[in-house]
Amino acid sequence: MAKQHIDGKRTKIVATIGPASRDEDTIRQMIRNGMNVARINFSHGDHQTHGENIDRIRRIAQEEGAVIAILCDIQGPKIRIGKVANEPLNLEKGDRVTFTLDNVPGDNGVISLPHPEFIRDIKTGMQLLLDDGNIELMVVQTITRGLICETVVPGALTSRKGVSAPTARLTLSAITEKDRADIEFALSKNTEYLAMSFVRSQEDIRELKWLIRHLGGEVAIIAKIEKHEALENIESIIEISDGIMVARGDLGVETPAEEVPVHQKRIIKLCNSVGKPVITATQMLSSMVDNPRPTRAEASDVYNAILDGTDAVMLSNETAAGSYPTIAVETMARIAVIAEQGFWTGRRAEPRQVVRPNAEGREAVSDAISQSTCQVAEALDCKAIVTSTLTGYTTRRVAKERPQTPVLCVTPSEITQRRMALVWGVIPLLIPEFKSIDGMIAEVVKAAQDAELVTVGDSLVIIAGVPFGVGGQTNFLKIHTVGEIAEF
Ligand code: PEP
Repeated sequence: MAKQHIDGKRTKIVATIGPASRDEDTIRQMIRNGMNVARINFSHGDHQTHGENIDRIRRIAQEEGAVIAILCDIQGPKIRIGKVANEPLNLEKGDRVTFTLDNVPGDNGVISLPHPEFIRDIKTGMQLLLDDGNIELMVVQTITRGLICETVVPGALTSRKGVSAPTARLTLSAITEKDRADIEFALSKNTEYLAMSFVRSQEDIRELKWLIRHLGGEVAIIAKIEKHEALENIESIIEISDGIMVARGDLGVETPAEEVPVHQKRIIKLCNSVGKPVITATQMLSSMVDNPRPTRAEASDVYNAILDGTDAVMLSNETAAGSYPTIAVETMARIAVIAEQGFWTGRRAEPRQVVRPNAEGREAVSDAISQSTCQVAEALDCKAIVTSTLTGYTTRRVAKERPQTPVLCVTPSEITQRRMALVWGVIPLLIPEFKSIDGMIAEVVKAAQDAELVTVGDSLVIIAGVPFGVGGQTNFLKIHTVGEIAEF
């Protein structure tokens, strides 16, 4: 139980598994250093390798007594150019390049772009960004089966680089043939989360949910916010998703890089207000791909994302392909612990809002109970807030208040237990099914004692939704002393 310790860090760490981190010792050390969620990136690798990685992570997590969620990140309709012959092709300002649907060798400034739906949506005068925005072109003419472009910001172009058109409204399907196969694979491995790339609106998520239902699966969906359309539709996307990722890599291509922090803060705030977990991703400790120490700017970035209210911070290349995967996780964990102190210190001065202005009915009751829980826990110096839940709803309501008192999620559902690995501050524990309130209290207290998180005489706040099994409400609160017999 070492990594589930009550005094540990609260911010969750998502680490991407890749060639640099898939071996047994590295996975084990990353778990010990604070990894809570392992990200499997379907933009790289094959099913056999991903399957081996998932099985290995599950086994080591069990051996370590750690609750680790698996997040499968689906590539989505990423647009890429074809081959560039004699690469790199050094594009100078004003140089012309033709992109064509035809399969060409990639010489003489003619390069294949095998995405008919993309080409169809591009108009003369639009900006095209290649290689993560490092090269900028302008479309000067649309032709049958292609686009003629002129270089605006020069650079060295190599094969298979990504292309984006920030001002275009792309009509291409949100789920490619490859994605479908990857989704089927993820469902077959019973992973906890599926991250959908290039989400534009609720409709994209609906399409994914339909496919998952059609395939007979069940998985929580994380919407990656990396397109300008997603920013316009952010509230409705949050509403339909189980969580959000601020995918700053592609977001910083689709929108100016200087606006990324504005979007990050807004998205996190919106997610916090409704208790949906949010991950801040990409380039958090980039320099640690090659160095054992982060830059000061990177340490500040992780710290500030936590002050913004992110549930989780993510490592990509740092752990997938870098030279210091375990040190990157350890570094992130250390920054997180310091940031959390700053978070609580700063927040004490702020008045608490008891019920969100637009909450009504059960929502308002849940808000009132979860916020009172945090106040009561602090006032009575409780050892822990124990949330009893089937779906995780009650736990998320409390976690969104970012209490200093540790939050335990005690649940009879294995899938809920593992999903809670992503939610800020939550220590997830599994208990047997229960039938009555007395039974529930006995089981949750026993679970916390067995995990050595509480001991006889400690006071706890226990909250739940009653009757059990009806999701979407938190309406029960009890102050309980460990060792006391509860009778209702
Ligand atoms: C991103 O763009 O920031 C991101 C997380 O997506 P990916 O790394 O899958 O492109």
